[in-house]
This record gives sequence, structure tokens and C-alpha cells, in this order.
Amino acid sequence: MIDTHAHLAALDDPEAAVERAAAAGVTRILTVGTDVEDCRRNLQLAEAHDGVFAILGIHPHEAGDTTDDDLAALRELLAHPKAVAVGETGLDWFRDYAPRDAQQRLFAQQLEFAEELGKPVVIHTRAADEDTLAALAGYGGAVVLHCFSSPHLLPTALERGWYVSFAGNASFPKAVDLRLAATEVPADRILAETDSPYLAPQPVRGRPNEPAYVVHTLAALAQARGEDPAELEARIDANATECFGL
Ligand SMILES: [Zn+2]
Repeated sequence: MIDTHAHLAALDDPEAAVERAAAAGVTRILTVGTDVEDCRRNLQLAEAHDGVFAILGIHPHEAGDTTDDDLAALRELLAHPKAVAVGETGLDWFRDYAPRDAQQRLFAQQLEFAEELGKPVVIHTRAADEDTLAALAGYGGAVVLHCFSSPHLLPTALERGWYVSFAGNASFPKAVDLRLAATEVPADRILAETDSPYLAPQPVRGRPNEPAYVVHTLAALAQARGEDPAELEARIDANATECFGL
């Protein structure tokens, strides 16, 4: 089983979390960096573990403080063979931690990196769906909508062949709309993630999340889709392998 989006370096004890994940059958983890220092830490974890791969980017929340040197450093880190994707990047008009024009520039720059490197881009979008779609309008590379929570984006996502990744919030009792969306994603485009340490799925809700818990999200998705969990697990594994070139 694979967790396609975790922030391992943000966990209290990443090494122990990798071990617990393996014990739960989660043998591959994509760990996500959110600024240059965090990217370095996550890349080290990827170097130390065969089953850990890195997604490297500068989060939209950091856009206000990002310098040209940061971008150059990121571009260099992305050349690493265990850096399998660019992100998470996108636009966040909900928290608005960084000026919008800075977020848009940073997003555009990272889309260029992804295109240039031929690596998929992992998208964070919050309360900015129309502007995120506009930024991606001319983009031809592989796209993953991480922590999918905007069902109205689904038609565009499916039309453009983007991957749709569901996190623990899809297992919350009130998330009927997300589970409905999960039934509409084709079998070859669905992914599952934890977004650890955030958004622990229903059975462990309120605790710090960790990659081992992706099994709960997977179970909720399988139930919603009326599929056998083992089959969906194999499907998601195959999708992630294809998307991220693992
Ligand atoms: Zn994330």
C-alpha cells in the first residue's frame, strides 16, 4: 500500500512512523516538503528509506518569503532521482498567509519546473479554485489534485486526465459530497493519501495523522465505491506507480 502525500519531516518521529507504516502494509510513502529546508529534510528521509520518495516544492503559504535563491535551491533539489514530483504548489485564498500575486508567481514558477523536468505537479488549492484552473489552463503535464475537497472541480479534472487524491477528511461522516465524488473518479485516476500529520481519518480522528492510517481512508473510499478494499489498494498502487514513475 502507498501513502501518496505525507509530511514526514513534520512528524514527531518520522523514522518510527515509517516503521509503523511498513508494519501496517504501507510500504511506500511520498513525503512532501513545503520550503527549501523542509525539502532537504524530506529528501534525506527518502535517501534513507527505499520505500520513501520526495515531492519537493514551496507551499503557497511561504510565497511571501520566497527568494530567487530559494527557487534556485529548489530547482537543484528537484534533480535528485528520489524527487518524484513538484509540490505542493497552488493557491490558497482561504488562509491568505501570503500576498496573492506572490502566490501566483510562485505557482507559475513551479509549474515551469515540473514541465521542464517532466515530473507531475501536486496541487494545493483552497478557496481559489477558479484561479487555480486558470493557472493550469495551458499546462500539459501530469497533475495531482491533493487532498481533494472541491467536488465542482471534478468535471474539469476528469476531462483533463488529472489524478484525484483523497485524504482522511473523505472518511468524515459529513463528507458525503467527497465520497460521492470518489465514486465518479475513474479507476485509473484515483489516489489516496494521509496528508500526515494533518486530517487523521475518522477512526483515529483528533490524533496526529501518520502514513499507517491511509488504510482507513482507503477503506472509506472502497466502501463508497462498492469495491473490494484489496482491489482498490492494488489499483491505487498501480496509479501512483504510473503517475510518479516509481
Ligand atoms: Zn500537504
